[in-house]
Amino acid sequence: MPAPFPTVFVSHGSPTLILEDSPGRAFLAGLGERLGRPSAVLAVSAHWTTGAPAVSSATRPETVHDFHGFPRALYEMRYPAPGAPELAARVLGLLRAQGMAGSADPDQGLDHGAWVPLKLMYGQADIPVAQLSVMPGRDAADHVALGRALAPLRDEGVLILASGGAVHNLRDFRFGATGAAPWAEAFARWLDATLMAGDVEGIARWTERCPEARVAHPTDEHFLPLPVALGAAGPTPRAERLHDGFEHGSIGMQAYAFHAA
Ligand code: ZN
Repeated sequence: MPAPFPTVFVSHGSPTLILEDSPGRAFLAGLGERLGRPSAVLAVSAHWTTGAPAVSSATRPETVHDFHGFPRALYEMRYPAPGAPELAARVLGLLRAQGMAGSADPDQGLDHGAWVPLKLMYGQADIPVAQLSVMPGRDAADHVALGRALAPLRDEGVLILASGGAVHNLRDFRFGATGAAPWAEAFARWLDATLMAGDVEGIARWTERCPEARVAHPTDEHFLPLPVALGAAGPTPRAERLHDGFEHGSIGMQAYAFHAA
């Protein structure tokens, strides 16, 4: 039996990540080979927000270009991976087993939080993908619990790929800028120390624990995929730093794998 996949959190950066050479792009382009080939991917995207857990069940999910004002080349890109309706059903069953209600959405395509990293990681688009939403009306502790319910998927050859942003405040977006603001560095260092210490409680209570939390994340949705990935690695996750650094000013590109201890 193959070793279970770690769960993974990546920062997807700007939609233009896939068009430009950058350390973040190079990292994602090598990540698929580094992780190996899963039987299916459950992509937890910051760009699909719902009130209750929703999972996409399309057999042929559309590539969604959910952004405005970017170069035409970006709108012409497709990620024609098959959907994973069986995985969607399995996800809903695992949630039900923990007393969590969820629903399947056959119309949800792959948004850029999912397809941009996946196109770089698994460019052949031949691995089935289902998407899972995040819920900005619920806190990080709820998202840890959501992830915890999905932990059995790791032993079933499924890669849980959470895609958000480690630091995500567009106020400080400066195209092509290098270096980051002190608050962005401070949040990234807090996040790294908390994850490397295996402090799940710290992540669950991030807005109380880190003074820079609300500057780094004026809204929750780009943070919330992270606690899902963390929770899915079980009660005592071991974090592995995969990538560090900022792009376009203070957009954090940090990425982590979580291994079940
Ligand atoms: Zn985003």
